[in-house]
Amino acid sequence: MRRCTVLIVGALAAAAVLHAPLLAATPVKAGYLPRVRQACDLLRRDLPHQADDEFIGANFQDYAEPLGWIGIGAAKLAQGQVDVAIERFAQAAALAAKGSAQARAAELLARLGRAVCLLQRGEVTKGRVELAALSPAGFSAALAPLAWADLESGDRSAAQAHAMQALGERPNDALALSIAARLTPGAEGVRLMRRAIELCPGSPYAAPSSGLALPNTERATGAPDVSLVRVDIKYDPDRRATVTWLGQEQPKYITLTFDGREAGLSNTPPHEFGLPRDPGPGTHGIAVEVWGDGVVLGRGGAFLQVQGPGEPPNRYDGAEYAAALEDLRSAMTAAPNRVHLHYWLAGACAAIGQRQNALQSYERVVAMDPAFADARQRMVALCSALGRKGSTRPVSATPASKRVCLTFDDGPSPILTERVLDLLRAAKVRATFFVVGTQARAHPDLLRAIAAAGHELANHTYSHDDMILKTPAEVQQELLETQVVVEDATGRRPRWFRPPGGRHTAAVRAAAAAIGYTTVLWSANVSVCAGLPTQRGLRRLLDEIKPGAIVLLHNGPDETLDVLPGLLAALKNRGYTFCTLSEAAGR
Ligand SMILES: [Zn+2]
Repeated sequence: MRRCTVLIVGALAAAAVLHAPLLAATPVKAGYLPRVRQACDLLRRDLPHQADDEFIGANFQDYAEPLGWIGIGAAKLAQGQVDVAIERFAQAAALAAKGSAQARAAELLARLGRAVCLLQRGEVTKGRVELAALSPAGFSAALAPLAWADLESGDRSAAQAHAMQALGERPNDALALSIAARLTPGAEGVRLMRRAIELCPGSPYAAPSSGLALPNTERATGAPDVSLVRVDIKYDPDRRATVTWLGQEQPKYITLTFDGREAGLSNTPPHEFGLPRDPGPGTHGIAVEVWGDGVVLGRGGAFLQVQGPGEPPNRYDGAEYAAALEDLRSAMTAAPNRVHLHYWLAGACAAIGQRQNALQSYERVVAMDPAFADARQRMVALCSALGRKGSTRPVSATPASKRVCLTFDDGPSPILTERVLDLLRAAKVRATFFVVGTQARAHPDLLRAIAAAGHELANHTYSHDDMILKTPAEVQQELLETQVVVEDATGRRPRWFRPPGGRHTAAVRAAAAAIGYTTVLWSANVSVCAGLPTQRGLRRLLDEIKPGAIVLLHNGPDETLDVLPGLLAALKNRGYTFCTLSEAAGR
């Protein structure tokens, strides 16, 4: 006669106690668990590419354990590779089910990952049934995705209940908050959504569309209700499952399958089912269907973990393994899709008359995905309605008066920008910095330093690519990506655009103007100093500078830093004053 220890789903914490190792733990790969934990840290910091590499490295050390596989699945999911992710989670679940007691504790996590993949792939009912089976007993990570699946199925009250339950466990769960926001009308919904967005700011390494898309509550799919099915299992020594149906309609009958095989049918309450006496060690799936007149009224399920003798011994120290498992769980928090959140927020702001805020949210959508729904059209229309149009005529000089606009392209760069700022500060001169988005994102502190010194921030595109080769939508995305970085760092909104290399067409200028930018070129260029001794170069540059000049300089390693002290002194001597582009434009 076989002795079995039984765990009902979700009791991860209890697993460590009940699954006492049968043999002494044998740590086989010293670096494995630390590497898994390090990778989890990268995943939590929103660096899925790097996390992926680390998990793969851990996997090389120990292919037989499921943690690395789960981590790879999570990292792939965070990069939007759902089909690969689902395979990795399936692999992890299979290894966990065959593994030692400590490995089996990882199985629920693998199943959670798989269920979130199913939701991401649009297989909502399947995912919802799995999550409903995972969520009841302490596996709170399943609650927010379950609320998502509820809402996507059109079941608003279940979504509300599960979102609140999730927030009760984890008040800063961005997915649960975004669902609560979606269910809350007016300004309060806007407030909740802003908080949800703050909690998932994303990074350049994470695909913005990698999280769950915001559910479409207008589309109720009429999916069978999983929140109305409760499965209670009494296994030791009874081996029975009792199914309770909480819905209004009278069910005709209820079926129960065990590991995919029909295990019974009941048409009278209490709906009790005998479970197999000796299913063997491992994790077993119980699925329940509640039938009305030819239709499924509800679906539900539960998992049953059975440990028996003769299974593989634990291979790692119990406490260390449990800590790695907990790290993995916390790194695998399902995230909402940021593009959807901003798009919804834009609509909600517009609905309560906050048009500036609506515009800002549409701009963020287009910065991430210019082809998303009708965001670009709405953004352009709002720009126009709010009078935020730029000029389609390029500006090369400002109205002639004894002043000069110095402009510094290609920053911000450590050291170089700091030196430019020092020289300008010493001369008490304000200038305009055309920043490149990729660098701005890497050095937000320098953006703040530029703004704090009273200089103007302007837009030199995100990638510094040739804008002539881009479509109007791509030009706008380039400008908005940089704009978002500048706004996030400084709260300032740039309005001047300088195309890299000065290369532009009427179409490029029109695309920029439609979102509030005027194209700015120059009338004097530091490149005339190239290859000349500093004093000769300076004289040449000064020859080009007329009243109202816009002078092109750089943060880059060219002649700028050599000539700048002499340039500032000489122009002052000649009676020039200095200002930013907006000051020259009288605004
Ligand atoms: Zn440039």
